Amino acid sequence: MALDMLLARLARLGDRVRTDDAALAAASRDESHLSASLPGAVIFPASTAEVALVAREAHELGVGLVPRGGGTGKSGACLARRDQVVVDFSRMNRILELRTADLYAVVEPGVITAELDRAARERGFMYPPDPASWESCTIGGNIATNAGGPRAVKYGVTHAYVWGLEVVLPGGRVIEVGRRSIKGVGGYDLTSLFVGSEGTLGFITRATVHLVPAAFEVQTAWLSFAAPLLASRAAERVFAAGIRPRMLELVDRVSMDLVRPVSSFRLPEAGAALLVETDGDAALPELLRLAEAAQADDSAVAESETDREAMRRARRLVSPRMKEAFPHKLSDDIAVPRSRMADTLAWAAERAAAAGLRFAAYGHLGDGNLHVNLLCSADELERGAAVRAAVLAHTIEEGGMVSGEHGIGLVKRRELAQQLGPEVVALERAVKSVFDPRGVMNPGKVLD
Ligand SMILES: Cc1cc2nc3c(=O)[nH]c(=O)nc-3n(C[C@H](O)[C@H](O)[C@H](O)COP(=O)(O)OP(=O)(O)OC[C@H]3O[C@@H](n4cnc5c(N)ncnc54)[C@H](O)[C@@H]3O)c2cc1C
Repeated sequence: MALDMLLARLARLGDRVRTDDAALAAASRDESHLSASLPGAVIFPASTAEVALVAREAHELGVGLVPRGGGTGKSGACLARRDQVVVDFSRMNRILELRTADLYAVVEPGVITAELDRAARERGFMYPPDPASWESCTIGGNIATNAGGPRAVKYGVTHAYVWGLEVVLPGGRVIEVGRRSIKGVGGYDLTSLFVGSEGTLGFITRATVHLVPAAFEVQTAWLSFAAPLLASRAAERVFAAGIRPRMLELVDRVSMDLVRPVSSFRLPEAGAALLVETDGDAALPELLRLAEAAQADDSAVAESETDREAMRRARRLVSPRMKEAFPHKLSDDIAVPRSRMADTLAWAAERAAAAGLRFAAYGHLGDGNLHVNLLCSADELERGAAVRAAVLAHTIEEGGMVSGEHGIGLVKRRELAQQLGPEVVALERAVKSVFDPRGVMNPGKVLD
């Protein structure tokens, strides 16, 4: 069998090739709703050369390879089948260079995102992309999904911070793309092509990422509203006034009720809330004034870094708490032009109510990117699937994207095809076949 032959050829990697139950089980899940899927083996390379060896041998034998970072993805993109092998990057986790004068760091893909930010902050700099999972996701996974995060509303998503990459291609060739300078043009932008490619084109084995000076005058507040729609309208006023917060997150009543018992910040009893944060010149008092004029009932302003972190943590806890409470929930990370967010949210909530389903929404309102959740029980799933399909179709009609940040993986391939249309899908398939003619890189993901 091809898989056995591959494992025999990789014998020199010793205990970095694992086929024991514990290793297979640990790699069998991500944070999507999909059931566990056991791979045939898990490999833990320690260097680019080892990744290249795996890529060469697997390509020759036609064995599918699935890159894995922190396994926090929500789309099944890092899951493998029994005849495929997971390549886990947890051993390639070094920060190789922190060149603050040149505004970049060079890192291995398994570096945990928050650790890079912490290391940069020790030097007075920051790495802005901050997915709510940043204590457990990796830079490699963030690049492969083009992850966003609460700070994206001011600082942008991962793509804006990826200057250059070292990539191992299927077949084992190692290439370098991109730059180490602030500027640089020449040829097609292959770096960008790898960003968001969900491990379907090659293995990211090293990344040069942009650092920026740490923000000053950070201020954080939690604003209460009677309903999500009012919070959304208040956000529109803030942006219309030219204020650019560095965080503007919606948390609805259901989300607050779930987090309240475990939050050190005392969450208000409100229909909805905005977690807002400003830095630099963006003025919190002006933002609060606008929000009050737009019917904010109450506002709590953090007075210390401990308070600020308690508010941010309350927001970060929403996703895990909701998953715990509603294991069958159907969840999507839709993105629409910001001015369409309020109406899209109302539309989705009405659809859910009409089908008799509980609904919750939270997330990156300032980016027009919300996590909409149908809180189904096991026997409501069929109804939930119909509402979910309608919400995603409506998102496309609104000029939006079926995924704002989590990616396509296994869970949204049909919807992606609807969004892109047949011509673009054909072009994307052609691009894929240039990099991966034998279809061994993360088979079956993104484009079915
Ligand atoms: C509680 C929670 C909160 C979250 N909040 C956010 C958020 O705010 N914003 C956001 O964008 N996402 C969020 N996510 C989703 C998830 O954390 C992100 O998608 C993250 O970028 C995944 O990183 P990872 O290291 O866990 O990658 P994995 O889940 O392991 O893999 C994700 C994809 O990256 C590929 N990949 C991983 N490493 C490499 C590599 N070295 N080379 C090539 N491909 C690779 C995999 O094959 C897969 O396609 C959240 C998830 C959870 C559970």
